[in-house]
Amino acid sequence: MDIHAFPLYRGQMEYVCLACGTRYCADDLLYTCPGCASVLLLEDVHFDTLKTHDGAYWRTLFDTRAATRCTPLRGIFRYYELLAPILEEQDIVYLGEGITPIIAASDELSASVGIPFAYKNDGQNPSASFKDRGMACAFSYLKSLVRKFGWDEVLTVCASTGDTSAAAALYAAYVGAPLKSVVLLPHGKVTPQQLSQPLGSGATVLELPGVFDDCMKVVEHLAEHYRVALLNSKNSWRILGQESYAYEVAQWYAWDVRNLCLFVPIGNAGNVTAIMSGFLKMYALGIIDTLPRIFGVQSEHADPVYRYYAVPKEGRQWAPVKVSPSVAQAAMIGNPVSFPRVARLAEKYTAIAGEQAFQVMQVTEQQIMDSMILANRKGHIACTQGGECLAGLRNAKALGIIGKDEYAVLDATAHALKFSGFQDMYFSNTFPPEYGVLPDSRLANRPELLLDVSRRSALDDAAYTVEAATAVVKHLGLQKK
Ligand SMILES: *Cc1c(COP(=O)(O)O)cnc(C)c1O
Ligand SMILES: [Zn+2]
Repeated sequence: MDIHAFPLYRGQMEYVCLACGTRYCADDLLYTCPGCASVLLLEDVHFDTLKTHDGAYWRTLFDTRAATRCTPLRGIFRYYELLAPILEEQDIVYLGEGITPIIAASDELSASVGIPFAYKNDGQNPSASFKDRGMACAFSYLKSLVRKFGWDEVLTVCASTGDTSAAAALYAAYVGAPLKSVVLLPHGKVTPQQLSQPLGSGATVLELPGVFDDCMKVVEHLAEHYRVALLNSKNSWRILGQESYAYEVAQWYAWDVRNLCLFVPIGNAGNVTAIMSGFLKMYALGIIDTLPRIFGVQSEHADPVYRYYAVPKEGRQWAPVKVSPSVAQAAMIGNPVSFPRVARLAEKYTAIAGEQAFQVMQVTEQQIMDSMILANRKGHIACTQGGECLAGLRNAKALGIIGKDEYAVLDATAHALKFSGFQDMYFSNTFPPEYGVLPDSRLANRPELLLDVSRRSALDDAAYTVEAATAVVKHLGLQKK
């Protein structure tokens, strides 16, 4: 195998409707089944021909490809054959997404939880969240359509809790004409950092009153009646790209996932869908010989998937919930679009690996914030959703459903900096009451001004240095050497 060459294998992708089973050719940009309006997933019709190679072949291929100099294969498309093997080399957009580090929890943090675990820092993607994985795939596909059909304008639209729009705007800005990016945000419900991202990338940023679920309905209406390309995770090309997370986790642990359990926040449920799908593909090809356990995590302020799985199988009934304000704002979704995908894949997953292999944990807002603050004080860069995963791990541990041989991998889905506003509220005890978060005052950390600002101009440089240094010495109680 020449690891520097673009792969020769080409599959044939089709959309499959999860409700009626109808298949559609992947040449069209579809989001829902034209027949019954249900969500779709993409399948490579020739997937089974990949089984002519054994698991060892694929493991070696992906391992050696880690050294490739073929740019399109440096990120999520390292796993080209498992993702979207209809794209040509010239279609693939690479902005440095994927291959994010897995960082073992610091000794103190592990000890405080009572189990060794690691964070996978998906905040170290180009727009600082895992959404880049899906966008890299969706934009590569759009580029292939533009090449094939010679479109002269493509308006991409998405609703967003912040990170989808940041990623969509970034990739659209990079690809350029004929792609243009429009993002719809719930007014006041994304952080200032997240808002700055699509603005900086030059996207058209439109705000609407309401919550994410309201914006999502508007975008769906637009996609149904107007010529726009929808970039929410209803777009199954995004799901494909996000499968790369699962491939990377398996590869990092040398393809031995026996005692692994993964914790993933659930919002619109695209990420957990992709991760389950990715592990199922690796299992089908013999790349891994067991499935790791997967724990979805939801805040009690936005927990429809938790509620669904909290009752015994026979009594389960799907019902969206009305959300309350959540610090896990990127997952504050009451009617996740991908729920039918989760239900389908969880059924497959648990049929192979047992009922305990897919579960959903519920956590409080207080637990999310305490966990994020604590993780970051121990050297991590977790966002609130990363805190949510840690809270989920703690609860699972407390419920006795994590074995002593298990090792947890927590998805830090975005960079801590995107959610620094919640850290500020924690440190200054200014959470609006609807969050229900009471900070631990011992953790509050604030800058201290040591000299009156007028002192700088009142003194010459040498005198200023002495006075300022004296103030530092006094504050720290430093001893002379
Ligand atoms: C989008 C997002 C989520 C939720 O992921 P879904 O695929 O919608 O379930 C969680 N955390 C962050 C940081 C996100 O951007
Ligand atoms: Zn259908």
